[in-house]
Amino acid sequence: MSSPFQADERFADGAQYIAGELRRGTSGREHAVVDPATGEAVYTYELAGTADVDAAVEAAARAFPEWSGATPGERSDALHRFAAVLDDRAEEFARAETLQCGKPIKLTTEFDVPGTVDNASFFAGAARHLEGKSAGEYTGDHTSYIRREPIGVVGSIAPWNYPLQMAAWKVLPAVAAGNTIVLKPAELTPFTSLLFAQAADEAGIPTGVINIVSGAGRDAGEHLVGHPGVAMTSFTGSTAVGKRVAEIATSTVKRLHLELGGKAPFVVFDDADLEAAVHGAVAGALINSGQDCTAATRSYVQRPLYDAFVSGVADLMAAVRLGDPADGSTDLGPLISHAQRDRVAGFVDRARSYASVVTGGEAPQGELAKGAYYRPTLVTGAAQDSEIVQSEVFGPVLVVLPFDGDDEGIALANDTPYGLAASAWSRDVYRTGRATRAIKAGCVWINDHIPILSEMPHGGYKASGFGKDMSAYSFDEYTQVKHVMYDNTAVARKDWHRTVFGDR
Ligand code: NAD
Repeated sequence: MSSPFQADERFADGAQYIAGELRRGTSGREHAVVDPATGEAVYTYELAGTADVDAAVEAAARAFPEWSGATPGERSDALHRFAAVLDDRAEEFARAETLQCGKPIKLTTEFDVPGTVDNASFFAGAARHLEGKSAGEYTGDHTSYIRREPIGVVGSIAPWNYPLQMAAWKVLPAVAAGNTIVLKPAELTPFTSLLFAQAADEAGIPTGVINIVSGAGRDAGEHLVGHPGVAMTSFTGSTAVGKRVAEIATSTVKRLHLELGGKAPFVVFDDADLEAAVHGAVAGALINSGQDCTAATRSYVQRPLYDAFVSGVADLMAAVRLGDPADGSTDLGPLISHAQRDRVAGFVDRARSYASVVTGGEAPQGELAKGAYYRPTLVTGAAQDSEIVQSEVFGPVLVVLPFDGDDEGIALANDTPYGLAASAWSRDVYRTGRATRAIKAGCVWINDHIPILSEMPHGGYKASGFGKDMSAYSFDEYTQVKHVMYDNTAVARKDWHRTVFGDR
C-alpha cells in the first residue's frame, strides 16, 4: 500500500459537509478519530451541533425542488458519473476506511470499495425504473393512476462498522428516487462519508443534495431525527438506539426505516459438506472482526458432525493472521476501538462461568498489544438462553451448540429477538427448502454465509428492524405512492352525490 490517508490535509477545513463545503462544527466539542490499530489519534474535529444540522437540512431542502424535478435520465447520468469518480478514487477510499476502522486493506479493497462502486452503478440504472404499478378505469367513470414521488429531505444515521457502504446504502436509493439527504455518520468514522459526498459533488450531483453532519448521537443525531424539515428517518445501528430513534421519529410522524442488530444463526445439518461449513463459519464469523450485523454468531451443528466441526473451526481460527491492517497479508485487524474490544472481552469472560472457551478469548500481546485486537474466539457448552447466545457481541466470537432433530435446529435458530440473516448447510434440497421457509430472517443463505449484492434487498425481521436497503425494494422506503383520479364523464351532478344530498 502507498502512503497512509492524510485526514488532516483532506479535511483541514472541518468535518461537516454542508451545501458543498467542508466546514467546522459548532457544538463546541472536539472529537478525535483514533486509529484502532495503534490507539493513536489521527484527526481531531469539532462535532456537529444543532445549528449545523439545521444548516444541513436547509441546504437539502433548497436542493430538493431541482433534484426531485430532474428527469430519471438526468439523475441516472449523474449517478453513473458518481460511480466513475468513486472507482477512480478507489485506493484513497480503501486507505481512509482502513485507517479509521482498522479493517484489513484486502477487505476494504476487495469488498467495501467495489461494493460501493457497484451500488452506485446499480442505482444509476434503477433510477430509470421507478414506476407506479397500475393505471386503469376501476370505477368505469374515472381513470386512476399511481405516481411514485420522492419524500423530501431524508435524515439518515449510520454506524461505524461499514461507514462507506452504509453511506452508499443510505444515500444512493434516496437520491436515485429524487430525495435529498443529510447523513450523520458515527462520530468514530466520518472520513469516507465525507469523501463520498465530495465525490458526488465532483460528479455533478447538485450542491446540497448530499450533506454530512459529523456529530454525536445524542445531540446531532436526535436533532436530525426530530427535525421538522426532515420528512423521513433512515437509521442503521443497534436495536437499543433504534428504539430511541423510533420514539422521536414517531412523535414527529416521519417515515421510518430501521436496520438494526443481528445474531445470525448458522445451521449445519448432518449431511452437510463439513469442510465447506467449517470454512464458511470461520469466514462468516470473523469478517470485519465479527463487527458485521449479518456475521455468523451462533452455529447449531447436528450431533454426528458436532465434534469434527468444533475441532475444524478451532484449527482454522488459530491459523488466522492478526496484524497491521495496512499489510496486504493481514486477515484480521483490530476492533473499532479499545472500548469495543473490552466490551467483547466482557462477554467472553462472563461466559467462562457457564461455557468453555476452546480457542482465543484474549487480546494478543507484543507488537499488537497497543491496538484494539482480540483473538478469534470459539465458545462451546453455552446454554441456549445464555447471554453469549442471545446478545449481539459484535466481535470475532463464534458459539457452537449441538442439536438432534431438524426441527430442533430450526427452532434454536429462531430463538433470539433478532432476525436479520441466517444460513443453512445441507446437500438435501428438501431440508434446505424447509429451513428457508421456517427461518425467520430477512436473508437466508444456503451453503454460504455473508455474500451480499446490490440487486438483493437487505433488511431484518423481528428486532432487526424493518424496511430494505439496496435493490429495487429500497424504493418502497424512499418514495411515497400517490393515487391520481380523473373524472371521465364531465357530468356536473354525479350519481354518488345523492348519498350526501337529494334523492335519486
Ligand atoms: P449505535 O446504535 O450505537 O450507533 C449507530 C448510529 O446512531 C451512530 O451514528 C450514533 O452516533 C447514532 N446514535 C447514537 N445514539 C443516538 C441517539 N440517541 N439518537 C440518534 N442517533 C444516535 O450502533 P454502532 O455501535 O455504531 O453500530 C453497531 C450496530 O449497528 C450493531 O448493532 C449492528 O448490528 C448494527 N448494524 C446493523 C446493520 C443492518 O443492516 N441491520 C448494518 C450495520 C450495523
